[in-house]
Order: sequence, then structure tokens, then C-alpha cells
Amino acid sequence: FVAADDEQWADAGTDEPGGAAPTPTLAVVGRPNVGKSTLVNRLIGRREAVVQDVPGVTRDRISYDALWNGRRFTLVDTGGWEPDATGLQGAVAAQAELAMRTADAVMLVVDASVGATATDEAVARVLRRSDRPVILVATKVDDDRLTSDTAALWRLGLGEPHPVSGLHGRGSGDLLDAVLDLLPETPRDDVGAGSGGPRRVALVGKPNVGKSSLLNKVSGELRSVVHDVAGTTVDPVDSLVELDGEIWRFVDTAGLRKRVRTASGTEFYASLRTQSAIEAAEVAVVLIDASEPIAEQDQRVIGMVEEAGRALVLVFNKWDLVDEDRRLAMKRELERDLVRVRWAERVNVSALTGRSVAKIAPALRTALASWDQRIPTGRLNGWLADVIAATPPPVRGGKQPKVLFATQAQTRPPTFVLFTTGFLEAGYRRFLERRLREEFGFTGSPVRLSVRVRE
Ligand code: GDP
Ligand code: GDP
Repeated sequence: FVAADDEQWADAGTDEPGGAAPTPTLAVVGRPNVGKSTLVNRLIGRREAVVQDVPGVTRDRISYDALWNGRRFTLVDTGGWEPDATGLQGAVAAQAELAMRTADAVMLVVDASVGATATDEAVARVLRRSDRPVILVATKVDDDRLTSDTAALWRLGLGEPHPVSGLHGRGSGDLLDAVLDLLPETPRDDVGAGSGGPRRVALVGKPNVGKSSLLNKVSGELRSVVHDVAGTTVDPVDSLVELDGEIWRFVDTAGLRKRVRTASGTEFYASLRTQSAIEAAEVAVVLIDASEPIAEQDQRVIGMVEEAGRALVLVFNKWDLVDEDRRLAMKRELERDLVRVRWAERVNVSALTGRSVAKIAPALRTALASWDQRIPTGRLNGWLADVIAATPPPVRGGKQPKVLFATQAQTRPPTFVLFTTGFLEAGYRRFLERRLREEFGFTGSPVRLSVRVRE
């Protein structure tokens, strides 16, 4: 466990929420030399593309701001990494898969002067499975001579091929219109993205741990503060609370405020409420009664947070009742019952006396920074290469699976995709997650790791 005093959050990530409105993303994929870069430069209307300085953008994923007919979107050029042992086909297919996972729409670029190659067909097969819209572009169509070659690209099964000349600009206006038709107005659902405003906290825990007491303790100046938060409409079931100079939205607290103790409040109902509060939040404070042994119900609530992929802070309440014996017993319980979430920060408080309540806000910030954190692809792969060189995946069925490439496909929570030549055992995946946390932190956030096996 991480002590609340560790100021890890200072370097845990810089992905500030809010700021400019998020724009939808179009990823451009295709074989080398089909004319992707030329086309991208044409579409953004600049000869020299300006590389955006945003976290997560490395030499193999360069993103540009684009503007057409008053609408903004982000163009991501996913090309650039060298074909490896899997060959060109594997590398481009992996690139397409990555695009599908991270963008709101995908543009496949095919060289009309060459026609669809086996690699183009392999990529099209991957993209046909995509639940993102895909737009097919036939490039290098400098004049009418290539019209029939363009039509032949229908057989890729991705709909109408859009002919363009990146070099001369022919067809690029029509292409941009088609792109805008395809792109959603706002980026695909990324929890909390773009909502701006106070960050959303769920205060959960089994009955009688002190949730109402804590909420009352921290929300003293609540009323006066509500009107000052510009553009914030507070759902009547939420509370705005100022902690450590920052306003937070505690979601679904109506029940806590009114202290409804309904006779019909079955455990099932309470559990649904907890679930919905967690889903509505970005970070969950799981409150635990420190004066009693950690209960299975505490573990269940923590499990819900993990499963929902929300950031987590463990707050041990009623610390005023904890003596030396209880403290020792708790140490054992933590190792036994909560070792699964040892990445979560732990804060010991007393809602009764107010002890250490001020430490909750920094812990929330740490957890959210981890939840938002993005590791640049280059750094991730550099780290991965070292780990794998030192401890290669175990041999299975006489074969040594190779890990080809990794990328962080998502934040909130951080989600990593490993492209491999074979299955990685659960034990090895856990090993990788442990090492990932040792290297990059992620205090207070679940981390997901998935494996894509390719032949
Ligand atoms: P990328 O590697 O897929 O990004 O491809 P590039 O944009 O670097 O282009 C590869 C080559 O094709 C370069 O020599 C370009 O000048 C050429 N090229 C790109 N677009 C066009 C086009 O529309 N017409 C013609 N004739 N050549 C093009
Ligand atoms: P909830 O059911 O989780 O909302 O819990 P409550 O806030 O209603 O608290 C349950 C009981 O625990 C009440 O009798 C509170 O007075 C008591 N309590 C809450 N926090 C503390 C604390 O920090 N120390 C002590 N000694 N009692 C507390």
C-alpha cells in the first residue's frame, strides 16, 4: 500500500481534464508509400505538418489538428513503425487494429496505381470487423485514367472507394465532406471526457461505516459554493463538496443526505445503488470501518470498483477507535484480504473528530492522475523490451511466444494491448502488470492488459 503522504501524484501525469473541447479522431492507415503522408498534409492544408505536443503522441503516432467547414477533428497518422518479424502484413494489420481501438473512424489508404495488394486485403479484413466507421481512399488518382482501377477497390468490402490525388489535391474536398459525414460530433464515449466541471466521486461502503458522517463533515460550506461553479448543473442526487480548495461532485448522495434508512432497503437494493454510484463516478472512495475486521462486503464493494474500471481510494474511518491491537490485526487483514488492490492509496480518518480528512483530496488527485495517465508508445516498448529480455514468456507447447509490440489503447483506466505471436499465461501477464506498475506507478488506478495473438 502506498502511504497517503507520498506525493507521487506530482509526477504521475499531466493529462489535465477540461481544457479545450475534445475533438473526434480519424486514424489513417495503409501500407508504406501509398501516399498517406502526402494525403494527410493535403487534408490539413499545410505543406509542413506541425506535430502536436500532446502526451501519448510519439513518432509512430503523430496527430494533427484539422478543420473543415468549421468543424474540428484530429487526424492521426499511425504509420511509421518498421515491419518486424511478422512482416509487412502483420505490422500493417496491427496498425489497423490499433486504429480501430483508438479512433472514432478509420481511413484506409490504397494506392490506385498499384491496386489492392494481399496486404491491403489483409488490412481490409481486419477493418471489416470494426465497429468504427471506415472510409476507403484510392490515392494517386491524378487524372481520369485511373477511374476503373479505383472502381476495382469495391471488392475490398469497405464500401465506395474515394479517389484522390494527395499530390494535386484532386478530390480532397469531396473526401473531407465524406469524412465529416462519418465522424461523430464528439469523440466516442470516454468516461468523463469533455464533461469538464468538478470530477465525480462515489462515496461507497457497507452500512454504518460512516458515509453520512463523512459527507456531513466535509460539506460544511456546501450551499454557498454551489452558485459559484459556473455552468454547473447539479443533479439533485449529487452534492458539490469543496475539499482542499477544489470542488468535487459526490454522486448519488441523496440517500446519504436524507439518511433514509428504509425498512425495504434490502442488501440487493443497496448493492444496486452502490453499483450505480460507482458507474457514475470517475473515482470511488470506499469507506471501511477500521474498528472492525475487514468484511467480505468491503471486499465486494472494492471488487465492483475494480470491475467498473474506476480509480480507487481506500478510506479507513473511525480511526479514533483503533488501538494498538486492532492496528496489528488490521495489518494482517490488509495482506490477506486486500492484497489484490495494494496499488490503492490508503487514508486513515475519523469522520467524528475530523482527523486526516484533509488527506482525502490529495489521494483522489493521485488516483485520477493515474487513471488519466498515458504512457508514450516509444517509452512503453523500450521498457517492455528490457523486461522481456530479462524474463521471457514461458515456453508453451514447445514454442516461445514473442511479444512484438505494445500500446496503451486507452486511459480511464489505462488499458494496454500487447501484440504477440502466442498465448501469454495468466501468471506472466500478472508479472508484466506488476513490472508495469513498478515502472510507471498507476497508484490508485486499475490497469488492464490484453493480449492480441497474431499468426
Ligand atoms: P506514405 O509512406 O504512405 O506516407 O507515402 P508518402 O506520402 O510518403 O508518398 C509515397 C510516394 O508517393 C511519394 O513519392 C509521393 O510523392 C508519392 N505520392 C503521394 N501521393 C501521390 C499522388 O497523389 N499522386 C502521385 N502521382 N504520387 C503521389
Ligand atoms: P453510513 O451508514 O455509512 O452512512 O454511516 P453513518 O455515517 O450513519 O455512521 C454510522 C455510525 O458510526 C454512527 O453512529 C456514527 O456516529 C458513527 N461514526 C461515523 N464515523 C465515525 C468515526 O469516525 N468515529 C466513531 N467513533 N464513530 C463514527
